[in-house]
Amino acid sequence: MRASRRVRTFAAFLVLLVSLAGACRDRAPEGIALVGGTVFDGSGGPPLRDAVIIVRGTQVETIAPRANFDMPGRMEEIDITGKWVIPGLIDAHAHVEPWALDRYLVYGVTSVRNLHGPLDSILALRDRVKLGGQRGPRIYSTGAMVDGTPPTYPDALGVTDPGSARRAVDSLVLRGVDGLKLYSRMDSALLGAALDEARTFNLKVTGHLGLTDALTAAALGLRTMEHLSGVPEATRGGRETLMAAHRRGFFSGWTAFARSWATLDSTELARVAEGLAERQVVLVPTLVLHETLSRLGDSALYQDPALKAVPARAIADWNTPDMIRRAGWGQADFEAFARSLPAMDRFIRVFRAAGGIVAVGTDAVNQQLIPGESTHREMELLVRAGLAPEDALLAATRNGALLIGADSIGTIAPGRVADLVVLNADPLSNIRNTKNIDRVMARGVFVPVDSLRAGW
Ligand SMILES: [Zn+2]
Repeated sequence: MRASRRVRTFAAFLVLLVSLAGACRDRAPEGIALVGGTVFDGSGGPPLRDAVIIVRGTQVETIAPRANFDMPGRMEEIDITGKWVIPGLIDAHAHVEPWALDRYLVYGVTSVRNLHGPLDSILALRDRVKLGGQRGPRIYSTGAMVDGTPPTYPDALGVTDPGSARRAVDSLVLRGVDGLKLYSRMDSALLGAALDEARTFNLKVTGHLGLTDALTAAALGLRTMEHLSGVPEATRGGRETLMAAHRRGFFSGWTAFARSWATLDSTELARVAEGLAERQVVLVPTLVLHETLSRLGDSALYQDPALKAVPARAIADWNTPDMIRRAGWGQADFEAFARSLPAMDRFIRVFRAAGGIVAVGTDAVNQQLIPGESTHREMELLVRAGLAPEDALLAATRNGALLIGADSIGTIAPGRVADLVVLNADPLSNIRNTKNIDRVMARGVFVPVDSLRAGW
């Protein structure tokens, strides 16, 4: 009697368990449906209004107009009527540090192209994020940069002749880098050898140029360039003094480069812009870096409320006064840098008009550049330079994916990774609306934006 009651109780308990599990299974959503928003998909076509985006797992499964849409079962439906959806942003010029990872995500940057860092730690960080051991944007990394000798940074690979340039590229390929960064002390012989070796491995290459000008580098096969470097050096009139300055050292070269724009002949700059566009070079102008350097003498720069996102120890590491001292910059330099900005803007306008492709990059987390926030500022500066807001958004999405060579990111389409940013306002009417973020999804999962921000 007692035994059989116990059996019956146990059976009832089992039935209860099974039915609870069933109920849970019935309720558990199998995907997310973002319903009613306007989608800027990064393809270059017109935005899709009143759309449905279905996300299943880490991927976008469907994107379709809401009218007559047959909603699949078990979807977590989120009404985003009145909001906009753009692809997760790509910062194509980053120097990532662990503290920056959450900042990128909160600002909607879901992929970064990391151009130089300590070889071991940056590749380890990339792999940790890739394997899910660390939350962060997807990192594509060139590992350590290749430079001439003595290398500008002690953790770069310094090369002395074409043979050692090839061996440096080989060693980076063996380490599993996603691309190659060539630096300012490489002359055309070193650059040409490294480019030729990189071609063997189908490796994407970018350059921060100094001792090789941009048109020469393009003729040697370089298809991506950072900071508009090498451009003044390619003009008649700029070349000799700039090369001498680059030979003296990094800051000497940079200072002469950054000051030169305001003094150069605009027809000559236009000739270089058209030459680079013709060779289908992708430029990463990093206007936000140029603007920031021009403001280093302005106390307001150091009181930007967005700096709250930067930890005190990172600000201490920046040690901006020490950088200014090492560079030997003073107010006259900052003013000369500022005078160069309109010439850079004009150069980008001519380059775009000639069909050139621009990508968004920032140089964060270098001094005073806030990871994520500066990505939005770069889009704003590209619009100031004359790009349409659509164009600036494509520069931060599709074009970044193009130069990384990753076709799973940068656009919203079936089968692509579900990296999405939901905006509260129309970014095409005002590019600053990209900062008005409702929510961020990275690889199909919403980023806990509010709790991350609360921790800063
Ligand atoms: Zn950089």
